[in-house]
Amino acid sequence: SGTPLRTDALVIGAGPVGLFQVFQLGLLGLHAEVVDSLPGPGGQCTELYPDKPIYDIPALPLCTGRELAERLLQQAAPFQPRFHTGQQVTQLEAVVQPDGTPAYSVHTDAGLHFSARTVFIAAGVGSFQPRHLTLEGAAAFEGRGLHYRRPDATAWAGRDVLVMGDDDAALEAAIACAAAGPQRAGSVTLMHRREAFRAAPETVAQMRALCEQGAMRFVAGQPVGLEGDAEGRLSAVQVALPDGSTTALPARLMLVLLGLSPKLGPIADWGLALERKQLRVDTEKFETALPGVYAVGDINTYPGKRKLIVSGFHEATLAAYAAAARLSPEGRVLLQYTTTSPLLQQRLGVL
Ligand code: FAD
Repeated sequence: SGTPLRTDALVIGAGPVGLFQVFQLGLLGLHAEVVDSLPGPGGQCTELYPDKPIYDIPALPLCTGRELAERLLQQAAPFQPRFHTGQQVTQLEAVVQPDGTPAYSVHTDAGLHFSARTVFIAAGVGSFQPRHLTLEGAAAFEGRGLHYRRPDATAWAGRDVLVMGDDDAALEAAIACAAAGPQRAGSVTLMHRREAFRAAPETVAQMRALCEQGAMRFVAGQPVGLEGDAEGRLSAVQVALPDGSTTALPARLMLVLLGLSPKLGPIADWGLALERKQLRVDTEKFETALPGVYAVGDINTYPGKRKLIVSGFHEATLAAYAAAARLSPEGRVLLQYTTTSPLLQQRLGVL
C-alpha cells in the first residue's frame, strides 16, 4: 500500500512505557512513530484509572493516571513523536530495505504502512478493543446499523437510536443523541440490563433529567435479536425484559458501548516467543526472538518480572540503548548524562 513511512523506531502502544520509550529513543537521537488502538495516549493509566492516584513513580509522590500520561507526553515532546491513534498494528514482518539494511515492515488496520529499523512492542495487556455483542448475525449490521464506537452526529440525526451500556461513554452518547438541535435523534433509548450505572453521578443525573423531560427513555433489558434487511440496515432490536417477556424496540442505529477489553490480538502471530501471552525477552536488551524488535512494559516477561510502571521505564531505557547500538556504525553507544552532555541538551532543545 504505497511508499512506507520510514522511521528509526516504531513504538507499538502509547501507554506509560511506550511514551517513556519515545523519550529515551529521542535522547539517543532516534525518531519514533507511535501507534495505539485507543483514541489517545496513556494506555491503562488513562483508560482504566484516569482519576485514581499513583504513589510509586520516582520523585512524583502523587499523580493521577491522566497526569502521569500528560507529564510523559510533555517530557517526550522535544523529540516530536508522531502519534497514529485509533488503529491497531496488525502485521509485522522482517524485510530488507533497498539499501540492503534490515528493517521491519509494519501495517495497521487503518492502512498505514511503516518501514521501521527497530520496533518496540509496548503493548501492555494487549490492544483495547470495544466489547462486542455476542448475538448471532450481529456482524452483518456492523458499521451500518450497529456501532461499537460513538459515530459523529450525522449518523444519528433524525433516527431512532438505541444505546446499550452503563458507563460514562454510553450515557454521554445517549445524552448527545438526545441534545436539542438539528442533529437530535428521532428517539433515544438507553438500555442496560438493570437500572444501575457505572457512569459518574453527574452524568447519571443528566440522563435522568432528560428522561423526565421526555427527550429520552431508559429500558432495563438485554438484546436477544436484531431485525433489518440484507444491506445491514437495522430496523428493530428484540429485547428481553426483566419480567421475562420480549419486546421489539425500533432502532435504525444501535450503539453498543460496553467498555473496552484488551486483546493480545495480532501480536500472537508475529513469530515471537510467547509465554502465557507475554513476550519473552532478555534482561540486557529486552529484545524478543526477532533481532531489533524489543518488548517493554507489561507485555514482556523474564525471570523476576514485575508489572510496574517503574520497571517498564528501566526496560525502555536499556532497550533504547540496545537499539541505538544496533543502528550505530560502531555498534555501541556511550553513556552520557542529561545534566552535562551538550549533545543530549541539544537534542532536548534546551541548549
Ligand atoms: P499499557 O498501559 O497497557 O499500554 C499499552 C498500549 O498498547 C495500550 O494503549 C494498547 O491499546 C496498545 N496496544 C496494544 N496492542 C496494540 C496493537 N497491536 N496495536 C496498537 N496498539 C496496541 N502500576 C504502577 O507502577 N503503580 C500503580 O500505582 C499502578 N496502579 C494501577 C491501577 C490499576 C487500576 C491498574 C489496572 C493498573 C495499575 N498499574 C500500576 C499497572 C500499570 O498501569 C501498568 O503496569 C502500565 O500501564 C503498563 O504500561 P505499558 O505501557 O506497558 O502498557
